[in-house]
Amino acid sequence: MAAQPSPSIIERIAEKLKLIPNLHQDESPLMPLGPSGQLQNYPPPDQWDDWVEYEAKAWPRREKKHYMVIPTTCFNCEAGCGLLAYVEKSELKIRKLEGNPYHPGSRGRNCAKGPATINQVTDPDRILYPLRRKGDRGSGEWERVSWDEVLEDIAGRIRKALQEGRNNEIAYHVGRPGHEGYMDRILKAWGVDGHNSHTNVCSSGARFGYAIWQGYDRPSPDHANAEFILLVSAHLESGHYFNPHAQRIIEGMMKGAKLAVLDPRLSNTASMADYWLPTYPGSEAAVLLAMAKVILDEGMYDEAFLRDWVNWQEFLKKEYPDRPVTFENFIEGLKETYKDYTPEFAEQESGVPASTIVEVARQIGRAGKRFATHNWRSASSGNLGGWTVSRALHFLNVLTGSVGTEGGTSPNAWNKFKPTFFDNPPAHKFWNELHFPLEYPLAHFEMSFLLPHFLKEGRGRLDVYFTRVFNPVWTYPDGFSWIEVLRDPEKIGLHVALTPTWNETAYYADYVLPMGLAPERHDLISYETHSGTWIAFRQPVLREARRRMGKPVQFTYEANPGEVWEEDEFWIELSWKIDPDGSLGIREHFISPYRPGEKITIEEYYQYIFEHTPGLPEAAEKEGLTPLQYMQKYGAFEVEKTGYNKHTRKLSEAEMKGAKVDQETGLITRDGKPVGVMVNGEPMVGFPTPSRRQELYSQTMVDWGWPEYRLPTYIKSHIHPDNINREKGEFPLLPTFRLPVLIHSRSANAKWLVELAHRNPVWMHTSDAKRLGIKTGDLIRVYTDIGYFVDRVWVTEGVKPGVVVCSHHIGRWRRIQDKVGNRWATNVVEIKEEGDGKWRMRVLDGVRPFKSDDHDSLRIFWSDGGVHQNITFPVHPDPISGMHCWHQKVRIEKAQPGDRYGDVEVDTKKSFEVYKEWLSMTRPAPGPNGLRRPLWLNRPLRPAEDLFYVKK
Ligand code: SF4
Repeated sequence: MAAQPSPSIIERIAEKLKLIPNLHQDESPLMPLGPSGQLQNYPPPDQWDDWVEYEAKAWPRREKKHYMVIPTTCFNCEAGCGLLAYVEKSELKIRKLEGNPYHPGSRGRNCAKGPATINQVTDPDRILYPLRRKGDRGSGEWERVSWDEVLEDIAGRIRKALQEGRNNEIAYHVGRPGHEGYMDRILKAWGVDGHNSHTNVCSSGARFGYAIWQGYDRPSPDHANAEFILLVSAHLESGHYFNPHAQRIIEGMMKGAKLAVLDPRLSNTASMADYWLPTYPGSEAAVLLAMAKVILDEGMYDEAFLRDWVNWQEFLKKEYPDRPVTFENFIEGLKETYKDYTPEFAEQESGVPASTIVEVARQIGRAGKRFATHNWRSASSGNLGGWTVSRALHFLNVLTGSVGTEGGTSPNAWNKFKPTFFDNPPAHKFWNELHFPLEYPLAHFEMSFLLPHFLKEGRGRLDVYFTRVFNPVWTYPDGFSWIEVLRDPEKIGLHVALTPTWNETAYYADYVLPMGLAPERHDLISYETHSGTWIAFRQPVLREARRRMGKPVQFTYEANPGEVWEEDEFWIELSWKIDPDGSLGIREHFISPYRPGEKITIEEYYQYIFEHTPGLPEAAEKEGLTPLQYMQKYGAFEVEKTGYNKHTRKLSEAEMKGAKVDQETGLITRDGKPVGVMVNGEPMVGFPTPSRRQELYSQTMVDWGWPEYRLPTYIKSHIHPDNINREKGEFPLLPTFRLPVLIHSRSANAKWLVELAHRNPVWMHTSDAKRLGIKTGDLIRVYTDIGYFVDRVWVTEGVKPGVVVCSHHIGRWRRIQDKVGNRWATNVVEIKEEGDGKWRMRVLDGVRPFKSDDHDSLRIFWSDGGVHQNITFPVHPDPISGMHCWHQKVRIEKAQPGDRYGDVEVDTKKSFEVYKEWLSMTRPAPGPNGLRRPLWLNRPLRPAEDLFYVKK
């Protein structure tokens, strides 16, 4: 048992006087202190098979409970933190989930959403059995079906589509990913270009800015060892990998690092920073480029890194062709190029004082190689040209030589593990233009939020459409356009919603298939949370408990509550059924590597990966375990402690065999493809770009029709002050910030989380509220380009004057006809379709206490379910990155008589017009040589190379 602090004198006296029960009479001695002198916070692993705790609910009786402690991985955000599930042995029930100290990313710590997983498991409204639609789509009538019926029906439909060559009619659309290549392997085995994701409503802006520099599309900052940290995000409370990052940011700060944050909103992160730079939204790139200018002008750049690892010769030859190609001329040229990005210009754009910009720039220059940065969502996801923000931010890393260094910022792939699979199906032979249309050749990645418009335009149809833990009707912009296509069987033949919870999209499905939560499913996880590399194992803990007790089950749904299953096994069974006789060539990719000819089991799938994970077999052997048993026991493994400067890896003789070296540029190619670069006489692997260096000058941008963006630059946002008319009550609305305790649409089933946060007012600065005569609590109409929503105002100093913000987490709903679901958080609404694209939604009732097996459901004290704002936003696809530019130009008015909190009105005809407007900004493929997309830019589920060319 974990060590307890000694009882206090007052406790002892109270026990003696029998004022309270004697809690310490048979207490065992304290656990020995850990080597660092700290108390033990976690049960020691040698007791994980039989861990004893007192039952809290039995107090003051001292009732001992016996638990199995089984690790798994949180599923509530992308950080993939470790959890330990406490499984009560006599009833085989999960009683609580806490942190897993053996997880190298989270190190035993979680945010509120990790332990709240127990609420999701025990939620009285959860879906326990597979359901099939009975009435029309969206009618809310369902019947229970067996998993066998589900598999037969869906498999038959997919088989027919594949036999008829309609491979592009099969699509899988993922909301919450996190299973390291599992699904790509399935789709390749089926031979479909069917991967669609949520990336373009999330991170594609930032991804493109990074990718155009260095091929890698995400950063991996080494916060713990940094001297200066610059965040264009709120990483102490939200954002990708925020719990693992937050720990390390604080660690870095405790060692003396300074923190600067660019954010128009006073986030928790900004409030902890040494410098809060409340930028006007969309001006961030101007501020960062001004910092770059200061670093250049004051000679604070890292000459060696620039000389070796930046394509400066190319820059000089193209930008200043009449000058000799010398490094000195490059620096002079660079200074000339950026001469207009003065701190004063940045102040004019951003509202941040020039003196602060200079001060921060000098701190960055002084930190040099120990400069850690991150931009996730935030400005890069909000603005037209938002991708220039991460590009400008990375420019600072390049200038300071802090790319890949200790305390600097590495490419994400250096700290992320790639598993070895037992079987690799060949690249598929299809290119689905519903996901990668010609208009967006550089998009990172699928244009998923345009799907309704593409279907309406008749660009294609979907015969089988899987939504996986995905809720576009609610989380995406333009939700009514989604409803319009989801309910139309001509556009979508069969919609299968794989989801652990009811959601607004599942209401419009044909099948709703319950999938497991964190302790109810298998997945492999690896993320770039710090400078090391790790893997974590998500496992169904009740299934694992049964295995340990000698009562194994065949399928996970036999151990989970009801018949809740998991995708991993579902896909194996479905694939086997699609190809019953092996004639489609699918079944061969689902054969056990250990039992020839037999169907692979899920244990064997992971067994193979763990047996081929460097260092894991040896670590397991030391404990007398197999690699799979090791992961079942500890739930995580550190593959590499640190990984810096991987671009300097020397190419081996074997790698150089048959390679050619360009004498002028040093580029090393094999079979015409860049594989490395000569640096100081050594062949090194470099970065995965055409030059194998960091690309300050991008020939790709020139070749693909955007020469004006060949260098890091600043693009004025669609919500730039030039486009905002204050006289008319216009504001930029920032609708993207996350509340630390909520998930986009999967926390409405977690009572503790909803209790903590359940409303989303519009934040307005005191000065704006005064100007408009508005007070906290007043109702306002917020007009977008396609409609409006009615919300309350919160007047605060915590937001930049002239800007309004609203969190996107809240405003969940269900209609009267829908099955009850997420009652901790959902409003009951009425949706009216008024014809010609006009839709209205009105809240009929808020959140109410309800009777259930969970007594807390009668203790609900809040009634406010918030307001659904995203559904009033049109799509804003950035013409380059493909990112949905979330920020909105809105007009704010006081609410009108008859308006009610939560009212929404939308015209989907207008939303189609806005889509067309933004579409007209694109410069479509083909690019050079008839390419649909540059070959060197990444793409999920990459097809065979010949598919990259537009067929004549
Ligand atoms: S940060 Fe919180 S929600 Fe995300 S994985 Fe970690 S514990 Fe779960």
